[in-house]
Amino acid sequence: MENRAIVIGGSIAGLLTAQVLRRWFSEVLIIDRDQLSGPVTHRKGTPQSKHAHGLLARGLKVIEELVPGYSAELIARGAVSADLLGDVLWYNDGHLVRRGPSDLDGLMASRPLIESTLRDLVTVQPEVKVLDGVAVTGLLARGDRLTGVRTEDGEYAASLVVDASGRSNRGEAWLAELGYAAAPEDVVKAGLMYSTRQYRHDPEAQDFTGVISGHYPANPVGCGVGANENNTWLVTLVGFTDDPPPALPGAFEDYAARLDGPELHRMVSKADPLGDPVRFRIGPSVRRRYENCERLPEGFVATGDSLCCFNPAYGQGMTIAALTAQWLGECLEKSSDDLTKRYFRGAAKLVGPAWELSTSADLRFPHVEGKRSTMQKVLNGYISYLHRAAEKDPVVGLQFLRVANLLAGPQSLLAPKIVWRVVRGQFRPAG
Ligand SMILES: Cc1cc2nc3c(=O)[nH]c(=O)nc-3n(C[C@H](O)[C@H](O)[C@H](O)COP(=O)(O)OP(=O)(O)OC[C@H]3O[C@@H](n4cnc5c(N)ncnc54)[C@H](O)[C@@H]3O)c2cc1C
Repeated sequence: MENRAIVIGGSIAGLLTAQVLRRWFSEVLIIDRDQLSGPVTHRKGTPQSKHAHGLLARGLKVIEELVPGYSAELIARGAVSADLLGDVLWYNDGHLVRRGPSDLDGLMASRPLIESTLRDLVTVQPEVKVLDGVAVTGLLARGDRLTGVRTEDGEYAASLVVDASGRSNRGEAWLAELGYAAAPEDVVKAGLMYSTRQYRHDPEAQDFTGVISGHYPANPVGCGVGANENNTWLVTLVGFTDDPPPALPGAFEDYAARLDGPELHRMVSKADPLGDPVRFRIGPSVRRRYENCERLPEGFVATGDSLCCFNPAYGQGMTIAALTAQWLGECLEKSSDDLTKRYFRGAAKLVGPAWELSTSADLRFPHVEGKRSTMQKVLNGYISYLHRAAEKDPVVGLQFLRVANLLAGPQSLLAPKIVWRVVRGQFRPAG
């Protein structure tokens, strides 16, 4: 059998998967339709890259385990390190999480820098080869086993094919061409719009390096903001499509006045902009349930956004890409038999909690389409009390951030010591 794996898509998920697969295959061929070499800049295949990207603490930790030295290299290239509780303003349901020192380390950088640093470290490995500027157009199979891919350029043989081609992936259509039924999907349509503007960052002017403000029914305007390399701020405003954040200078800054807390509006009103705002319409959150497929070809794996794309406001995508890449390695460590089924079953357990966390928050908005459960309503009610308590109690805030950073499960918010603090927080004065 061919000792080559093919990874379709050379973005974050594809690179992390290639890094794992190089231990098991003499060649790992990454095929991307974009040109990947060249300057650190935006490219067509990752249109999200103009918008603020934060790496959750869990994601950074796992990437470091998979690609040792990644964090140091990112910092050397200009990424800004942050204590996620001490240096970042988090507004949840209008409550500012009480700041304080923590062990939650984060790095802030533009998406092109995050990706290009990873690419440089992964593609230097002798087993990893890159075929760029070539689109994959289909899958090849013999019986119930994949044997490679078809591209605009010809056919390439492989015994494992990983679909890491992102939100706009064609995996379902390619499998259908081979006679496989589509995977069941969970879909939540939030209907969000992002608008992003870059500013010059004067580190003396603020005592924070990031602002995250979650949207919620009483205020559907949110933001994700980080200090990036080269003394810049990347400011992303989030709103629904019926009242979207504007892409016009001036109107963009006015919209920021609608955020909870005055800090970001104050900052964008004074900082020097570096270009005009740019907009991005966010598609639905889609979770493909390959684990529930009756038939799948052996040798097929999907990862990153092609497996599950989230509402990006919760910053989970790159972390899930890292976790599923790591899981694929664990599957291979055991055996290559029955890999497809074992991988999808375990990947579902990694994706599930992140999916619940982000979709439950979105489903609080009555117009958002998706399945609601009574349990979600009860938990959302409790979490709104928790946010109020986190304004005064850093222990509660830190536990929430651990969950939001996928370092702890949502059930940890129901531990007796947290519940007690949440109850006490409803009565305790701030300060
Ligand atoms: C606006 C926005 C903001 C986000 N912010 C965050 C954040 O703060 N934190 C976070 O963790 N995540 C965030 N995400 C999600 C994050 O960008 C993705 O989860 C992450 O990049 C992993 O994506 P991926 O590698 O699976 O796919 P992508 O990054 O979408 O890459 C897919 C790759 O496949 C290639 N490709 C596609 N089709 C083909 C084909 N037929 N043949 C060959 N190549 C192909 C493309 O060129 C591209 O390189 C955000 C997403 C959006 C939309």
